[in-house]
Amino acid sequence: MRVVMLGPPGSGKGTHGALVAGALGVPHISSSDLLRQHLQGRTATGHDAQNTMAAGDLVDDDVMVRLVLERLAEADAEPGFVLDGFPRNVAQAAALDDWLAERGCSLDAVVLLEVSRDVLLQRLGERNVSEGRADDDAPTIAHRLAVYETQTVPLIEYYARQGVLRRVDGDGSVRAVAERILAALRGSGRPPPSSEHP
Ligand code: ADP
Repeated sequence: MRVVMLGPPGSGKGTHGALVAGALGVPHISSSDLLRQHLQGRTATGHDAQNTMAAGDLVDDDVMVRLVLERLAEADAEPGFVLDGFPRNVAQAAALDDWLAERGCSLDAVVLLEVSRDVLLQRLGERNVSEGRADDDAPTIAHRLAVYETQTVPLIEYYARQGVLRRVDGDGSVRAVAERILAALRGSGRPPPSSEHP
C-alpha cells in the first residue's frame, strides 16, 4: 500500500507515519530524516538546506524530489511505503505522481491529520521545550504554519480530486488517532484480485 501522511507541523505525521508503516509492513520514509541523513555533509547544497530547515522554509524542490525518489526506488519500498513530510507543494506532488505512473502505480491513500491551531501551537511549544529544536521557537513555528497554509494546503484539494484523500481527526491520544487512521485506510486501495473474482 502506498500512503502519504499530510498535515500541518505538529499534527503527528511522524509518530503516526511510523505506526502506520509498522502496521502495514512497509518502510516509513520521512523527508526531514532524508534531509538530515544526506545533507549534513559540508557540501554547499547541504549547508543551504540546513539553513532553510532552521528557518522553517521549504528546501528546493529539485533537491527534495531527487532525495525522495531515490529512496522510493530502493527495493524495500517496492511493495509500498508511508511517506511523511513529502510532498509539501503541488510541484512535488506532481513529480511523485509522474514517477509512480511511470511504474504503473499510484497512491492508495493520503491521510490528512486535522488538528486545530490551538492544539498545534501547544504541541509545538512543548516540543521546543523538550527537544530544543531550532525550528520550534515561536516565530519560526508561526512561519512554518504559514508555509503550510500557502504551499501545502492546496494539496488537500489536489488529492481530494484524485479521490484518495482520507480526513482523520488528529486530536486525542496516539492510540485513538492511530486507530482512526487504520480504520480510514481499510477500504483504501485495490482489493486482491482473488477476492474480486471468486
Ligand atoms: P519533522 O519531520 O522533524 O517534524 P518537518 O517534516 O516539519 O520535520 O520538516 C522539517 C523541515 O525540513 C521543513 O521545515 C523544511 O525546511 C524541510 N523539509 C521537509 N520536507 C520537505 C519537503 N517535502 N520539501 C521541502 N522542504 C522540506
